[in-house]
Amino acid sequence: MRVVVIGAGIGGLTTAAILAHDGLEVEVLEAHTDPGGCAATFSYRGFRFDAGATLASGFAPGMPMAILGERLGISWGVHPEALAMQVHLPDGTTISRWTDRERWRIERRAHFGAAGEPFWAWQEQTAQALWDLAREGFPWPPQDAGEGWTLFWRATAWLRRHPGMWSSIVQDAFRPVAARLPEGERLRSFVDAQLMISAQATAARANALYGAVALDLPHTGVGSMPGGIGAIAERLVEAVRRAGGRVRFGQEVQRVRRSGPRAFRVETDAGEGMEADVVIFNLPPSNAAALLGEEAPPILRSLPEAPPDGWGAFMVYLGVPEDRIPPNLPLHHQILTEEGLAEGGMIFLTLSPSWDPTRAPPGFRSITISTHTALAPWWEALARSPQAYAARKAELTARVLRAARRLLPDLPASEAEWPEGWVLRTATPVTFYQFTRRARGWVAGFPQTSLWRYIGPRLAPGLWLVGDTVFPGPSIPAVALGAMRVAQQVQREAARARRWLLWGRPLPSSCSLSGGSIR
Ligand SMILES: Cc1cc2nc3c(=O)[nH]c(=O)nc-3n(C[C@H](O)[C@H](O)[C@H](O)COP(=O)(O)OP(=O)(O)OC[C@H]3O[C@@H](n4cnc5c(N)ncnc54)[C@H](O)[C@@H]3O)c2cc1C
Repeated sequence: MRVVVIGAGIGGLTTAAILAHDGLEVEVLEAHTDPGGCAATFSYRGFRFDAGATLASGFAPGMPMAILGERLGISWGVHPEALAMQVHLPDGTTISRWTDRERWRIERRAHFGAAGEPFWAWQEQTAQALWDLAREGFPWPPQDAGEGWTLFWRATAWLRRHPGMWSSIVQDAFRPVAARLPEGERLRSFVDAQLMISAQATAARANALYGAVALDLPHTGVGSMPGGIGAIAERLVEAVRRAGGRVRFGQEVQRVRRSGPRAFRVETDAGEGMEADVVIFNLPPSNAAALLGEEAPPILRSLPEAPPDGWGAFMVYLGVPEDRIPPNLPLHHQILTEEGLAEGGMIFLTLSPSWDPTRAPPGFRSITISTHTALAPWWEALARSPQAYAARKAELTARVLRAARRLLPDLPASEAEWPEGWVLRTATPVTFYQFTRRARGWVAGFPQTSLWRYIGPRLAPGLWLVGDTVFPGPSIPAVALGAMRVAQQVQREAARARRWLLWGRPLPSSCSLSGGSIR
């Protein structure tokens, strides 16, 4: 059984490493020169910058990255952090997101008072109950009768372990986080900001079950990777190769064609072609549709390149002298201004750890800042003129720097005033498109507004989708969890195919989905 994985993001590498580890012949083709995609780290003038993702989570025992590490024999080498991040509200308040639950309880009570406690009690109880379910695997949406049964039995066993939660879980499956939020400007502002970075939607739209789990992220085992976040993908590349699989860089796949009833031909831009029994797309749906062309299942073809509420990211990468950074400043900060939750109104700022010499030349630190940005204006500006695009970049850079100066007052106000020897680079959705090939530069998957919004990972027999557009959505641990499920399903499909070959029997109806009936 030969498996070709298109893309060496967290999703593609996780699936590839598990399948190679379990004895399948695996080849990963990555267009870029480095692995990691949105969770990569790149080099520039002696600095190592995290390209998109900066916060590593899910490493606590029983959490996705720990499970994955155990399964593959990977020691992540993550440095645990006591503080996941600090959230700086527009009114000047700073709230520390401690990883320890008791410390967080004290902190939140001090900021939101007793009135906020029923909300946090609901959030913690729901998140812990759902983690208990997710740990065993929760194949959502089910792709065949087998997964339907698995879902049914796991949900039944889980309800027995959590008696009394049935009614609240069912209600929360259909309503937003806001239905659970008490009155209170500060709590609302805090929750909205936290959900924007984890669910890509505010409390008014983010689904309550998803939101409860997303708000639990600081307690799932947060840490810093020596070498930057890209080290996670590098460990996975090593795991694929250790198990006998191949990972090749600079290989952009341009077409995937059916070459037999259960066989595919994968063609790269270098004119190379390879046969595969299984193809796994580590891509957004419309990218997968473009590679499949006429053979794309109708559901893929019916989706827009990016959903109307999907986000892009604007990034600012800074190389700054250590002595311009306030001493003992924590690593991760979410800074809110009065100017909204996107387009520089809210930023997420991460400093490289001072203990990591690989991230910056001596005496310097590298900083990655991100802000949500709408996709269309970037492409419109680019279509208008290079000047319009550059002006938009300069304007947003100034807004991001203004927000960052709340913590780093020594930063100059604009790129034009940038001192010699310091570094400032930016990235827009156009840059994300160029470096990750994600259509329109849409990142971080579908905003988590409904549990019924997911496309199933099984596109057709032998064709699978992994990454942040399939359940359970964006973030490194969530993508890894979704990819572990796909690896398991591919193995089951391979076993069925072997039985079929052996006995010449037709496949059971549950796995003979036509390309069009994915859900
Ligand atoms: C700005 C930003 C900040 C974030 N912050 C965090 C955070 O702090 N913590 C966290 O956990 N998550 C964070 N996330 C989310 C997380 O980074 C993503 O959800 C996750 O990395 C997506 O992984 P993926 O498997 O979907 O693949 P991607 O990262 O999209 O990777 C896909 C890979 O496929 C390759 N590829 C594409 N087309 C082709 C082709 N035709 N041929 C060959 N290769 C191809 C690309 O080059 C890329 O390497 C952030 C995301 C962004 C954008």
